[in-house]
Amino acid sequence: MVEDIMSSTDTRGAQSHRESRESRAYTETCEILNETLSSKRESPFLRILLHAMESQGCAVLPKHFVVEDCKSFDGYGGFDAANNEIVLCENKFASMSRKRALKEMHSTLAHELVHAFDHCRGNVDFYNNPKHVMCSEIRAAALSGQCMLANNFPSAVFGKSRRGHQRCVKSQALRSFKSLHPEWSMEKSVILIDELFTKCYKDTEPFDRIPLSMNDARLAFKAYQSRNRYDP
Ligand SMILES: [Zn+2]
Repeated sequence: MVEDIMSSTDTRGAQSHRESRESRAYTETCEILNETLSSKRESPFLRILLHAMESQGCAVLPKHFVVEDCKSFDGYGGFDAANNEIVLCENKFASMSRKRALKEMHSTLAHELVHAFDHCRGNVDFYNNPKHVMCSEIRAAALSGQCMLANNFPSAVFGKSRRGHQRCVKSQALRSFKSLHPEWSMEKSVILIDELFTKCYKDTEPFDRIPLSMNDARLAFKAYQSRNRYDP
C-alpha cells in the first residue's frame, strides 16, 4: 500500500534516523531507491513529475529523499511537507523481493511526487485542511499508476475499465485519508470523497490525461514533451 502525506512528529525521530543509517534494511532501500531513480528515463510517470517539479521551481534533489525506519507508520513512504522530503520506509522495501521492491518503489515515488507537486504549485495545507488532503490523495492514487489497468485492455470494455480505475482510486484515497485522519468516521470520509471526487479526479496536472495504462502514460509524456518543449 502506498501512503501518504506524513506528520513530521509522530512517525519520525532523530533516534530512528540514526539507527536506520546502520541497518542492512537502510542500505538495501537506498540501493532500490537509487536503482529506480537511475532508470527514471524508462518511466513516463517519473519523467513527467520530476520535470514538472523543476518547471514549477521545486527541483527534486537527492537531499529531498530520506530513507528511514517508519516504525508505526503502515505505508511504504510519505511526503513530509514541513521538511520538503519524500520519506521511504526501509522496513517495507527491504522485506520483499528485489523485483517487487523496485515496482513498489516506483509506485511510491510517483504517488509522493504528486503530493510534492500539489505542495509546490499551490496553497495547500496538508496539516489543517482535510479537503486538501483528500483531493491530493485522489490525484496521487489516480496519477501514480497504482490503479493502472493491464496494458492493451480491450477497447470494447474500456468504459467498464475506467469505472474500475475510479473505484480503485476511491478506495486507495479513502484508505490513505483514514490513515492520516483516524478520528474521521468512514461515513464522514465517504461524504467528503464524494463531494470532491469528480473535481479532483479531473485535475490531471501535470499529465494531460489519466494514465489508465502504461501506454496512456507514454502518450501523456509525449504530450508533455511537446507542450513544454521538453528535450533533455
Ligand atoms: Zn498519499
